[in-house]
Amino acid sequence: MADKDYYQLLGVDRKATKEEIKKAYKKLAMKFHPDRAPEDKKKEYEEKFKEISVAASVLGDDKKRSQYDQFGNAAFSDAGGGSASGFEGYDFSDIMSQFRSGSFGNFDDVFDQLFGGNGQSRRGSRSARGSDLLQEIEITLEDVAKGKKELLQLNKLEHCPACQGRGATKFDSCQHCHGSGYLKRTQRTAFGLFQQTGPCPYCQGRGELPQDSCSSCGGEGVLRKKKKLEVQIPPGVEAGMRLRLAQEGEVGSGGGPAGDLYIHILVKEHPVFTRRGDDIEITVPISFTQAVLGDDIEVPTISGQAQLKIPAGTSSETIFRMRGQGLPSLHDSGKGDQMVKVRIEVPSKLTKKQIELIKELHEENPSKNFFARWFG
Ligand SMILES: [Zn+2]
Ligand SMILES: [Zn+2]
Repeated sequence: MADKDYYQLLGVDRKATKEEIKKAYKKLAMKFHPDRAPEDKKKEYEEKFKEISVAASVLGDDKKRSQYDQFGNAAFSDAGGGSASGFEGYDFSDIMSQFRSGSFGNFDDVFDQLFGGNGQSRRGSRSARGSDLLQEIEITLEDVAKGKKELLQLNKLEHCPACQGRGATKFDSCQHCHGSGYLKRTQRTAFGLFQQTGPCPYCQGRGELPQDSCSSCGGEGVLRKKKKLEVQIPPGVEAGMRLRLAQEGEVGSGGGPAGDLYIHILVKEHPVFTRRGDDIEITVPISFTQAVLGDDIEVPTISGQAQLKIPAGTSSETIFRMRGQGLPSLHDSGKGDQMVKVRIEVPSKLTKKQIELIKELHEENPSKNFFARWFG
């Protein structure tokens, strides 16, 4: 054992991920389980099973793995007394008994135990909700006004189609509970022995046991797959909002419910419009004569163009409200307004004739001392 390479034993690359190591180990553990050994090869299978279990226990633990990568087998041979069976902290008979009788369903328990998991047995409650996913979508203010269909490209865990998420293709009735999924157990308590009926720990109450391991997913029942999903972003969404698409996250394990998909909305800054709630603000330049004489002007809106009447004698910075030209409300059928601030542009270049005319205007209407009434 001491001179065998753990990576070679498991048949994995030195850069293999934990998942790959787990998969490789599972495959080998099923193949070399002593219970499956032909009569004349029992010893050989048992030795092999111990070897791969030790290898997996080292490579499956980040700390031990890095020690192993640095120092090789020397990092562990002392602690383990130099022999595989003496490897500290691992009771192989227990690991083997958990694999016994083709009951590979609780592999995760065994693996957690071997890889220094938290030690909590998940037997009987192995179904878990899938993970939630978060996806960011950046949209424009025009998209906010109209709503948008967005095609998302997701890469998420899905049920393996080859085994319909069951992790195996062949199942046999569980011989522990005779297919019922329930088992009577005798429990020893301070008050004596009790008979208790509970879900069968060998088949997790399913009544059947896998007889092989699905080759597509390595028995995990799930695969990471690319998936397209069309999402309808409702009109009126606000930046920073999160839309929740129930059950569009990753699939759960052991028949657990899928997680949710959250869409985080980002809204691009608009070059012309500013959003304030459901209202839209815009500043529009007008000429001095338009301000003085009044005019009908075309103003851009989020959905096109609209007419705005500038009354005669309009001051700069006056704000006009264009009703219903804002954004749709997310909460009701109402719409916001567009607030138009006009700014009088003072021309910097004038023709001779224009200068003459303005001078004339000035003579007609000489500037008064505005502060005269306070400062006399
Ligand atoms: Zn059972
Ligand atoms: Zn599969």
